[in-house]
Amino acid sequence: MTTFTELALSKPVLSAITRIGYEQPSPIQAAAIPHLLEGRDILGTAQTGTGKTAAFALPALSNIDLKVEAPQVLVLAPTRELAIQVAEAFQNYASDMRGFHVLPIYGGSSMSGQLRQLQRGVHVVVGTPGRVMDHLRRGTLKLDKLKTVVLDEADEMLRMGFIDDVTWILDHTPAERQVALFSATMPAVIRKVANTYLNNPEEIKIEAKTATVSSVTQRYWKAVGTNKLDAMTRILEAEDFDGVIVFVRTKTLTVELAEKLEARGHRASAINGDMSQQLRERTIEHLKKSKIDIVVATDVAARGIDVARVSHVINYDIPYDTEAYVHRIGRTGRAGRTGSAILFVAPRERNMLRSIEKATRQTITPMELPSREQVQTRRIDQFKASIDKALEQSDLSIYSDLIEAFVKEREIAPEQVAAALAFMAQQDRPLVMEEPRKPERRDSRDATPGFGDEERRPRRERKEETFSGESIAMERFRIEVGHDHQVKPGDIVGAIANEADLSSAYIGRINLLDDHSTVDLPAGMPAEMLQLLKKVRVRNQPLNIQSQGAADDFVPGAKSPRPKRKGPPNRGGDRPNNRRDSRNDGGRRR
Ligand code: AMP
Repeated sequence: MTTFTELALSKPVLSAITRIGYEQPSPIQAAAIPHLLEGRDILGTAQTGTGKTAAFALPALSNIDLKVEAPQVLVLAPTRELAIQVAEAFQNYASDMRGFHVLPIYGGSSMSGQLRQLQRGVHVVVGTPGRVMDHLRRGTLKLDKLKTVVLDEADEMLRMGFIDDVTWILDHTPAERQVALFSATMPAVIRKVANTYLNNPEEIKIEAKTATVSSVTQRYWKAVGTNKLDAMTRILEAEDFDGVIVFVRTKTLTVELAEKLEARGHRASAINGDMSQQLRERTIEHLKKSKIDIVVATDVAARGIDVARVSHVINYDIPYDTEAYVHRIGRTGRAGRTGSAILFVAPRERNMLRSIEKATRQTITPMELPSREQVQTRRIDQFKASIDKALEQSDLSIYSDLIEAFVKEREIAPEQVAAALAFMAQQDRPLVMEEPRKPERRDSRDATPGFGDEERRPRRERKEETFSGESIAMERFRIEVGHDHQVKPGDIVGAIANEADLSSAYIGRINLLDDHSTVDLPAGMPAEMLQLLKKVRVRNQPLNIQSQGAADDFVPGAKSPRPKRKGPPNRGGDRPNNRRDSRNDGGRRR
C-alpha cells in the first residue's frame, strides 16, 4: 500500500492534499505519479471517478517552477465543463503554492479576459482544443516553457472530432515535453496518436478483477435532485437496518458526516486513517456491541472490518475501482447473513457503475428514494411497535393509575392524554410530516422554475434528466463574494442550490469579479428565498444578494453540444454558431 508521503510529491502539494483529507492514493495515482514525477510519458486507461485528475495534476504541480510565469503545463480536455473542473482541481491542489495561476480557456468565454490573464502570467492552462489552437495561432499562448502536456479523456476528444486539433497542438509543443495521455478506452486512433507522440510511455491500466459477492443485494441511487445527505437519511428511515457502514472518500468527510448523522438522531461515529489503531478498534467494538449503529469510514480505515450485524453498506462516494467496491460491500452479508449494498452514483460516474457490474457479473438495480408518505407510514408502524413492546414488556400499572387519576382530574378523554404523550415522544420524529412550504406564485405560469419543495421535486428530477430545451427568463443578481475571496463557481452553485433548494441545473451564468460576482437565477424568486440567500455565507462572506434586473434567457440543463467536425482544423472557436454556448459560459460547473 503506497502512501502519499512515499510518492515524493512537493511539500505544498502534500500539505494541500492532507488538508483536503485524501488518505491514500487511488490505484491510478499510485501507479502513475512516480513515473510522471520522473518525467516519463504515460498512457493511462482510466475513466472518471478513478482519481485520474489528481494522478496528473499532483506530479505536474510538484514540477512547476513558480518563478517562471509562463505555461508549464497544458491540459487538453474535450468539454468546457471538464476544463473548468480540472482547472478547479489544480487550484485546489495548489492552494499552498503562493502566486500560482491556472487558467481555463474554452470557446464561448470572453477572449479579452483570457488574454488579460495570459499576459499576467499563468503556470497551467486547461483548455478545449479549439480555443487553445486559437490562442496559439494568434500568438497569445506561448508554449516555449512547456514541460507537460496532458490529454484528458482522449477518446472523448476523438469522438467529438477534436483529434486533428489535438495533434496540431502537440506539433506546436517543444520536443522535450512530457506527455500524459488518459483515456477511458483505447481505440486504434488513440493508440496511433500515442505511438506517434509519446516517447516510450509507461502503460498504466487498472485491471478490473472479477469477484463474486452473492449474499449481498446491490442497489444504486442516481444522485440527482436531492443532496446525498438528505437521500441517505431518508433511506435510513425506510430501510430495516441493524449496523451500517457508510463509505466516503476523505477523512474530513467521515467526521463531518458522522456529526451530521448524529445531529439527525442516529448513533454514528467516524473512522479514518488519522485515528489511532486503538480508537478505530474501540469504534468497531462499539458497532459490534450495538453502542453505535453507523460507522462512516474511508476505505483504508474500514479494511478488514468483520462485524456480523452490518446489514447495510452505503457507498456515499463511489469507490475508485471495482476492487474497492467489492471490498466495501464484503463488509456486509457476513457470518451467513444477507446484506444490502447501496451505491450513490452521480450522472458523470455512470461508467464506473457499468464497470462494477461487469467485474462482479451482477446487475445493480436502480432504486428510488423513499417518498415522504413511505417514511411517514414507517414512523407510524415503528411507533405502534414501540407501544406494543412497552405494553408487553413492562409493568405499567403505576402509569395506568396515574393516567386514570389525571383523566378524572382534568375531565378529558384518555385518547387526548395519549395524543399529548405521543406528541412528546415523537417531537424529533413527527408522525405526520408537514407539507413542505410552497413558494409564492402569482399564477401557474409565473411559478419560478427550479425553485421548490419536496412536492415539486419529482418533476424537477425528471426534468434534470430530460430538459425540454426551452429557455426560461433569468434575473441577474449581484453577490458580495469574488476573486478576492478565492471563490470558485462551484462554491456559489453549491451554496445557492442548497439554501434555495434550487436544482443546480437552473443556476445560470456566473461572472466572477474581484470583490463581487454576478449570478443568473430564474426570474421571480420568492421573496422569502431571497431573504434566506442574503444571509448565506460563501467563503465566509454573506452573499447579500441583490437583483440587478433581467438577464439573458437560459436553457436549464443545457449541456455543451458535441458537433462532429470534419476537415482541417481552421475555425475560430470551439463550437461556433451555437447560441447556448456563448451564454452559459461564465465558468460554472454542474
Ligand atoms: P476524478 O476521477 O479525477 O474525476 O476524481 C474523482 C473524485 O475523487 C474527485 O472528487 C476527487 O476529489 C476524488 N479523489 C481523487 N483522488 C482522491 C484520493 N486519493 N482520496 C480521496 N478522494 C480522491
